[in-house]
Amino acid sequence: MNTPPSIPSWQPSRRRFVQTLTLGTGALLLPSLPSALLGAAADKTKTPDGRRKLGVALVGLGGYARGQLAPALQETEWCRLAGIVTGTPSKAEEWKRRYDLAEGNVYSYDTFERIADNTDIDIVYVVVPNGLHAEFAVRAAKAGKHVICEKPMATTVEDCDRIMAACKAAKKKLSIGYRLHFEPHNLEVMRLAQAKDFGAIKRVEAHDGYVSGGGTWRHDPKLAGGPLMDLGVYCVQAGCYATGEEPIAITAREEKTDFERFAKVEETITWTMEFPSGAKAECLMSYNKNANKLRVEAENGWYELSPAYAYRGIAGRTSKGPMDLPQVNQQARQMDAFARNILDDTETIVPGDMGRRDVKIMLAIYESARTGKRVTL
Ligand code: NAD
Repeated sequence: MNTPPSIPSWQPSRRRFVQTLTLGTGALLLPSLPSALLGAAADKTKTPDGRRKLGVALVGLGGYARGQLAPALQETEWCRLAGIVTGTPSKAEEWKRRYDLAEGNVYSYDTFERIADNTDIDIVYVVVPNGLHAEFAVRAAKAGKHVICEKPMATTVEDCDRIMAACKAAKKKLSIGYRLHFEPHNLEVMRLAQAKDFGAIKRVEAHDGYVSGGGTWRHDPKLAGGPLMDLGVYCVQAGCYATGEEPIAITAREEKTDFERFAKVEETITWTMEFPSGAKAECLMSYNKNANKLRVEAENGWYELSPAYAYRGIAGRTSKGPMDLPQVNQQARQMDAFARNILDDTETIVPGDMGRRDVKIMLAIYESARTGKRVTL
């Protein structure tokens, strides 16, 4: 007989669901604040309750930092864009102008360590290729900064351990860029995993893919780990938060049709994750097929998100009708939540342990795909 799985402290709960839904919503928070503090909200350097907004420095000014994180940091209420770390001098000039950054808050990869003396910067957000996360996260922790590390946390478990050890030694907080833990539709899926409004969860389907032309670090195993680490991590995450469990076994298979474009990395992997309750997650990640969905089949009904993992436009429906939930800026909520963790000395809901767990699962997926065997965790 299966015993119910114990729920690690960072797994979703109703309390955390409610907590995160109220984050980043000044409209919800402000009415309860003393009127003397209301003026603070208009001051861009102050939090809604009048404290100093925490300064974030982005490391790596590529597509995600430029297109999502920097714009989100214009909407955050508990932190702000205070600095940058880049290997490209022309980007430094452009960003300084666009975001009105102080000269002293702009670093190169070589001068990065000097950030230790900068009291404007509290959080370093690592947004470089996956294989470099550990190097920069460890350097940030050693410089005495709190760290947000993009997904996947790293490409090896050893690197995850290095990051966690460095943050622990520096007594600094660490969180992973799992933005969907701050998105209302995905939060509803997490809530339903606990509340079981549709009965016991039987089957999860998690698919994520796009057509990648190649020619970037994402096709270099050393820098990327592989497409599974880029996209499959969303399916691993979804399988875990849609069931509220962690997998005990994996069976995976790789499919390849374009041997030139995918000479160094995988093209498509399908895999099954088995959970202690008997639920299964059927997953697919591909760099050569478009896919973006999460479906949960339970004893008394079903619910699904499609798209499920996008930055915007996530839509959900259930066997009882559509999900009527708001669209939010996921990255702004994610960063504000971490800033509040630091300001209030509370625990993040997306900690290093969770990032490490997912890397371990992805390595088991690779192993099963390579050996053709069921791998137990
Ligand atoms: P990108 O290629 O657009 O940017 C990468 C950045 O890293 C560039 O500024 C580049 O100059 C810099 N870099 C530093 N050293 C490098 C090296 N040796 N080789 C190549 N580039 C180097 O990539 P991106 O899409 O911004 O992704 C960056 C990180 O963010 C990745 O870890 C990725 O998984 C993550 N990401 C997360 C999300 C999300 O939704 N959470 C979305 C996109 C990317």
